[in-house]
Amino acid sequence: VCADKINPAAVALDFSKHPCFNKSSHHTHGRIHLPVAPRCNLQCNFCNRKFDCMNESRPGVTSAVLTPAQAADYLDDTLKRVPNLAVTGIAGPGDPFANSVETMATLTAVRRRHPDMILCLATNGLGIGPHIDNLAALQVSHVTLTVNAVDPAIGAKIYAWIRDGHRPMRGLPAAQLLLDRQLEAIRRLKERGIVVKINTIIMPGINDQHIEDVAKKMAELKVDIMNCMAFLPVAGAEFENIPPPDGALVAGTRLRAGRHVPQMTHCARCRADAVGLINEPMSQERLATLASFAR
Ligand code: SF4
Ligand code: SF4
Repeated sequence: VCADKINPAAVALDFSKHPCFNKSSHHTHGRIHLPVAPRCNLQCNFCNRKFDCMNESRPGVTSAVLTPAQAADYLDDTLKRVPNLAVTGIAGPGDPFANSVETMATLTAVRRRHPDMILCLATNGLGIGPHIDNLAALQVSHVTLTVNAVDPAIGAKIYAWIRDGHRPMRGLPAAQLLLDRQLEAIRRLKERGIVVKINTIIMPGINDQHIEDVAKKMAELKVDIMNCMAFLPVAGAEFENIPPPDGALVAGTRLRAGRHVPQMTHCARCRADAVGLINEPMSQERLATLASFAR
């Protein structure tokens, strides 16, 4: 990769402004998610991407999908109206690397227009591998991978199927391939100095007794921070009838995982089209602006 060609205007970035990775910034600096990635390359049993509710706030939800060109213009417009946006991220509503052309085109356009913007993305890790060198060249500095299991027998309960290129896979081989890709991606991201956050969803009866093992493995790979999130049942998803973990299970899980990896506790499970400060709700005005750029 010729980094100079991809990102000729590389500048030193101020990571202290990232509101998700620095708790002290989350009242002063915001983020924007550009919803350019509608497809997914696997199916988590806790996710139903068909379900989209304007009142709901969680990853996977967006009110519109943008092309890379629309997303770059929408960002420029939003920067005029929303102060202190320090981070631009891609977080779905599917997976960025099931839409890698759109994802890389968007990141490239944003980097060209905004050399000092912190770039961030969240992925399941299956398809990120071929793009890691270009992500580093674009100075994408923060990557979140969702790792729900480091034992493929547990992973096989969580993932209904994966699609690797045109190859659909199920069961243990699918969970093993996903895990291999995730571990390799984390190792390579860390080699390039990228901050890596791990999201792990606490699913009672599925992986809740396994999360300390996930944390131990992540510590070996030198991940920076881990976000153990409570599972939320979603209508129409395979796991819709599993009850969410109670506060004691979440707190205990974070305590045990925190022996190995620092824990993030202020994640707001933002929508794939979130804009502004982390805990700010999406206003009707912001939703309407987004929709106007999707036309
Ligand atoms: Fe849904 Fe994300 Fe899982 Fe894809 S990777 S099925 S978008 S939760
Ligand atoms: Fe930050 Fe969590 Fe929101 Fe992602 S979902 S932007 S990590 S607060």
